[in-house]
Amino acid sequence: MLELKGKPVADHIYQKISDEFKKWPSMNRKAPHLTVVLVGEDPASQVYVQHKQKACEKLGFGSTLVRLPASITDSQLSEALQKLNTDSSVDAILLQLPLPAHLDSKKMTETIKVSKDADALTTASLGKLMAGQQIVASCTPAGIIEILKFNKIDVSEKNVLVIGRSQIVGLPLFHLLNQLNATVTLAHSKTPNLKKLVAEFDFVFVAVGKVHFLKASDFKKNAVVVDVGIHRLPTGLTGDVDAEGASDQLSALTPVPGGVGPMTIAMLMQNTFLLASRNR
Ligand code: NAP
Repeated sequence: MLELKGKPVADHIYQKISDEFKKWPSMNRKAPHLTVVLVGEDPASQVYVQHKQKACEKLGFGSTLVRLPASITDSQLSEALQKLNTDSSVDAILLQLPLPAHLDSKKMTETIKVSKDADALTTASLGKLMAGQQIVASCTPAGIIEILKFNKIDVSEKNVLVIGRSQIVGLPLFHLLNQLNATVTLAHSKTPNLKKLVAEFDFVFVAVGKVHFLKASDFKKNAVVVDVGIHRLPTGLTGDVDAEGASDQLSALTPVPGGVGPMTIAMLMQNTFLLASRNR
């Protein structure tokens, strides 16, 4: 079984960005600039934000962290985001989620201007993706497509199954696979006979958010499986798929950890670079 590891793919993306970015000074272009907005003190979010800033630093991109107190109101946060929308030194904006419970995440995300929407989470960004006119796509699904391409896994003219329809993973992944000429079935919590469906597909993308929702024997023999799920257990990180027995059943699987996870920040850097390329 092929382990579809994210790290070599992420390194490849960083290298590609770096090669392109080297040409910028001769074109008198200023470095791309990502601004991350962090509300409150969530420990996991603080770590993620640090990683994002380090990735910017490594590539020579500008980065700013805007820290706002957990007590902030929707209108104060919206005002802060609007300010970034109109700041010409900012190419890309990422609102770190989750927000404190009293804030309206959907409404706050929508405040970000589409041309600066680093994780492509606004309705406008999703609309562009649906129309095949996106500049960037949401980082996690975009990273999954890069894993497929890097490993020369061709989904064109294939039937593929995506399980999960969230705006951050399943739905954009559906559209990205469609753009690659896959015939995509989108399953969710109301899909009848899901296990039967899973067993019929050669390509399955699992983004359900439930520990070991599927086991290796649920899949068709030699299926390619992308496990997007990530769960922190006392024994370590694991995914939506129980990998036990996978090496005998599947032809390829993204490991958890080390599969889709490492792609997210690489794609954020790529999105920042692409948005900056358009903005300047
Ligand atoms: P989410 O917003 O909770 O969405 C889960 C989706 O799964 C929903 O569409 C839901 O269907 C569907 N679902 C739930 N129970 C189901 C069931 N019994 N049968 C079939 N479908 C079911 O989750 P998400 O944000 O998409 O994340 C999914 C997983 O990916 C999580 O484990 C998350 O931690 C992980 N993730 C990883 C990364 C990474 O970098 N590796 C990034 C983002 C997310 P309904 O729409 O009908 O409710």
